[in-house]
Amino acid sequence: MSEQAVVVVVEDDPNIADLVDLYLRRDDHRVYQASTGEKALEVIGQRSPDLVILDIGLPGEIDGFECCRRIRATSDVPVIMLTARDDEIDRVVGFELGADDYVTKPFSPRELAARVKAILRRSGTPRDPVGAVHEFGDIAVDTARLEVLRDAEPVALAAQELSLLLFLLENRGLALSRRQLLDGAWEVDWVGDERTVDVHVRQLRRKLGPNLPLKTVPGVGYRLG
Ligand code: CA
Repeated sequence: MSEQAVVVVVEDDPNIADLVDLYLRRDDHRVYQASTGEKALEVIGQRSPDLVILDIGLPGEIDGFECCRRIRATSDVPVIMLTARDDEIDRVVGFELGADDYVTKPFSPRELAARVKAILRRSGTPRDPVGAVHEFGDIAVDTARLEVLRDAEPVALAAQELSLLLFLLENRGLALSRRQLLDGAWEVDWVGDERTVDVHVRQLRRKLGPNLPLKTVPGVGYRLG
């Protein structure tokens, strides 16, 4: 059984964020990063994660505590707090605000990954969407296994192509602009040309063939179905 989950990592230190990201991806989780509390709340709203890793010391208006409080106002997603030191007060406040666990910096990413696993097990992840397989002629997209088959053979999609396809599926029937696709299917804070979307659409069409109903919507962007 796949243990894949969606995890949001809220950390302003890019080295730590990337390290955590790397370890979580190794465990097959989908990871989104946010470097401020504001950004975190936005990403959490968009992605409905299964777990949030939240640094206490964040720049800007919303520190980790405040961020946790606001998350708890609308969601019971598990939260693991990262504390800068072995500070009893931080831990107490964190738990009072609804954090589920904490890890003290410096921490071993392996240990954090193990905590993530334990918490996800407790909270009953992975999610199992009903009717997770979408079929288009000879193509089957299994959104639970993250597998795409064409003529019953697995198709090798790059991670970004798969991400784009899944986002199109989530918004099936809607015309989406290139900007919306970049915002929805690319890494948060990804900066780049909107033509990147065209390149990936071309790849999807090439790999999946004419049965994929991925339409160009003139003046807008693309639509699936
Ligand atoms: Ca920090």
